Amino acid sequence: MIVVASSNGIVGIQTAVQVLRAGGTAVDAVEAGIRLVEANPDDHTVGYGGYPNILGQVELDASIMNGRTLESGAVAALQGYPHPISIARKVMEELPHVLLAGAGAARFAAEMGFTAQEMLTPEAQRVWQERLQRHMPPELFANLHAQPALRDWVRLATDPERAGGTVNFIAQDAHGDIACGVSTSGWAWKYPGRLGDSPIIGAGNYADNRYGAAACTGMGEMAIRAATARSLVLYLKMGMTLAEAGTEAMRDLADLHGRFLSVMNIIALDRHGQPAAFSSQQGKTYIYQRADMVEPIEALRTFVAIPTRWG
Ligand code: ASP
Repeated sequence: MIVVASSNGIVGIQTAVQVLRAGGTAVDAVEAGIRLVEANPDDHTVGYGGYPNILGQVELDASIMNGRTLESGAVAALQGYPHPISIARKVMEELPHVLLAGAGAARFAAEMGFTAQEMLTPEAQRVWQERLQRHMPPELFANLHAQPALRDWVRLATDPERAGGTVNFIAQDAHGDIACGVSTSGWAWKYPGRLGDSPIIGAGNYADNRYGAAACTGMGEMAIRAATARSLVLYLKMGMTLAEAGTEAMRDLADLHGRFLSVMNIIALDRHGQPAAFSSQQGKTYIYQRADMVEPIEALRTFVAIPTRWG
């Protein structure tokens, strides 16, 4: 039994391991761990306290995948609910669908009995306002919702090195079943309605008991274009080692063209319960904890260089 997470999963990993020790499933562990990150107001990249879109609205994305059944559920651009990972799980369990977005996702959350909440914290609102006002004339900022053209402001305000963040959890339970979960408030100051890789199965999240699982943080647009999480798992299926599969999935990103290319990070687990992680930035870490360990280990991600470019 093991739980692997991105470093900001530190507030939830011990609880996730405890769920496994108590006989919970990999899906239970992933959900429990991620809920604690979503509730952490100091994490401005996930759940409550997350930085908003360019209009000041917090829009959340999350997905969960059961590697035993290959079932998955996801919500995207969800406003007004603090635990998108739990709503994603309900999509997986209650609906014939995989992904609900926007008003439909919020409607389903209400239908399933989730409690609505204001998601923009005063701290996140302050940072959003400061960031936008650095570039925008005051009269424009005051009438933001009425602006016919937001696209240039999104490009100006969205700093690829600082505006991102997401939580990834992968768990393997006592039965050897694997699950993978991802939750994020997406890129800060993004265009309203923008979805990243986190709610897209195959892009930011993939789990298959027979081979392993992978989850991404970083520039979601790149993971969508290269189908990064699914690629890593497919490379495992084709017989590569975990180190080879992760490196190859990262190298695929180097083939992307275009004006907007930034960072990518992957955490992964193979079917034997071996963890690994990869990053396009040097010195980045991830965490994991096996059920017989008293606390998590922080380990270095394998660095794989990919080009970055902005504008
Ligand atoms: N992958 C997330 C997204 O593109 C953001 C991040 O992890 O930095 O929405």
